[in-house]
Amino acid sequence: MKRIYDMVIIGGGPAGYTAALYAARAGLKAVVLEKLSAGGQMALSSQIDNYPGFEEGIDGFELAERMQRQAERFGAETELAEVTGVRLDRDVKEIGTSEGTFYGRTVVIATGANPRTLGLPGEEALVGQGVNYCAACDGMFYRDKTVVVVGGGNTAAADAMLLSRIAKKVILVHRRDTLRATKIYHEPLMNAPNVEFRWNSAVTELLRGGKLRGVKIRDVNTGAESEIDCDGLFVSIGRAPATALVGDQLNLDAAGYILADESTRTSLPGVYAVGDVRAKALRQVVTAVADGAMAVHAAEGYLAEHENRLW
Ligand SMILES: Cc1cc2nc3c(=O)[nH]c(=O)nc-3n(C[C@H](O)[C@H](O)[C@H](O)COP(=O)(O)OP(=O)(O)OC[C@H]3O[C@@H](n4cnc5c(N)ncnc54)[C@H](O)[C@@H]3O)c2cc1C
Repeated sequence: MKRIYDMVIIGGGPAGYTAALYAARAGLKAVVLEKLSAGGQMALSSQIDNYPGFEEGIDGFELAERMQRQAERFGAETELAEVTGVRLDRDVKEIGTSEGTFYGRTVVIATGANPRTLGLPGEEALVGQGVNYCAACDGMFYRDKTVVVVGGGNTAAADAMLLSRIAKKVILVHRRDTLRATKIYHEPLMNAPNVEFRWNSAVTELLRGGKLRGVKIRDVNTGAESEIDCDGLFVSIGRAPATALVGDQLNLDAAGYILADESTRTSLPGVYAVGDVRAKALRQVVTAVADGAMAVHAAEGYLAEHENRLW
């Protein structure tokens, strides 16, 4: 039997499960297709302190389970399946997965964006143990401590600025001799009394004693190596949006994010982009869930308008 849904949601992070919650509560038949487990990137964080309503903070994995259960309470379904191909340019869209084909009158792309990593040995094991990818998320854990920020673009500059207001010392390690970030960041960073720069340098090793205790860096010109003692490392070298599935069908921006405004409507009718995968200024749980709600709002209008064609 053909599995046809009013809404097929690709990705079970906070954006996807919020779309599922709103869809189910609006009486739409909705399924979340998730290749791993609920929560996406959020589930990697053991302490989310900036999602309103949890004054003591909450474990990201637990928040993910709660979001899933909440959506399922109203009838949303979950299928553990990896989406391998999509055809979005038709009235009833086709979603190929590891568990067979699903059909959706509307499709929500909620596949997220993964932070780029340094690819160093031990990096994955040290996430939450000193290695971080989001200053807005984890900066508060480093009050009056020493942190290293890697990168030289806008993300790194913004992260270093934010951290300079929290940490005792911020050391920015960049492989060039000047920042790539827009000029507005240069002066405030250069003038910040607690920000130091290690130009022409790359982090080559993570030093650990249980948790992260420092990093080894190498001068990219001379090859000279040195060590920096630090409590935390912020890898601020950008993110990679998970748009391989849809890149040839939807309009993307130069960085590969799906172009959709606040309504979450993409360049194809009945297709919505929510959360970190959408071109936007702030990628957080709170903005991801807002997108999930907006997508259902837009989809309800679309379904009502195209009632004759889609059923
Ligand atoms: C370590 C870390 C800590 C963070 N801490 C905070 C914090 O404290 N506060 C905060 O607000 N934000 C935090 N963030 C950011 C926050 O987690 C993200 O903004 C948020 O999770 C984005 O939600 P999303 O639903 O758009 O995407 P994601 O959470 O990335 O979820 C995308 C989901 O799609 C699935 N998927 C992708 N491709 C496929 C496919 N082909 N088939 C099926 N499934 C697929 C993935 O498996 C994943 O589960 C943190 C991020 C990280 C990495």
